[in-house]
Amino acid sequence: MKELLSQLWTPELQMATTVVVVCLVVLYILSIIWVVRDAYLRGTMWYAWAIVALIPLLGVVAYCLLRPPLLQIDRDEQELEIALKQRQLMNYGECANCGYPVESDYVLCPNCHQRLKNQCAKCGHALDPSWTVCPYCATPLAGVAARRAGRTSMPQQAPAAGDMSEHSARHTR
Ligand SMILES: [Zn+2]
Ligand SMILES: [Zn+2]
Repeated sequence: MKELLSQLWTPELQMATTVVVVCLVVLYILSIIWVVRDAYLRGTMWYAWAIVALIPLLGVVAYCLLRPPLLQIDRDEQELEIALKQRQLMNYGECANCGYPVESDYVLCPNCHQRLKNQCAKCGHALDPSWTVCPYCATPLAGVAARRAGRTSMPQQAPAAGDMSEHSARHTR
């Protein structure tokens, strides 16, 4: 029996066994490093997972099953994307009357013709209701200060109103 064993236990087999054992040890160490790194990147308690990973094979399997689904970097990226979309929405926005998507320099809603903004009488640019001067041509905007003081809900510039709506209607076509 011993003779048979010594016959089987050749230097080649010894060598192969050593290689396999070394590979397993390296794999074990790498798995612990991977678990710690992955848990850290996912923003969890990586030190707790490091202890779990010390259990050979089972620790890594348990981590793969129970790890949080998102990487911290991905989560940051998602938040950034949401913020970007919100900024885009602010830029484009929608009509307060019918919800139709409108761009920031629209004067009139192309869908329901609700007035969204005033228009500069001189250069025709869309103006924010809170501005007191046209930022495109430096024309002081008469009536804005008075409107601010009075806080009338829907500003209608009396003399130029007809002329303006005709102008914007031409734009929307
Ligand atoms: Zn509308
Ligand atoms: Zn202007």
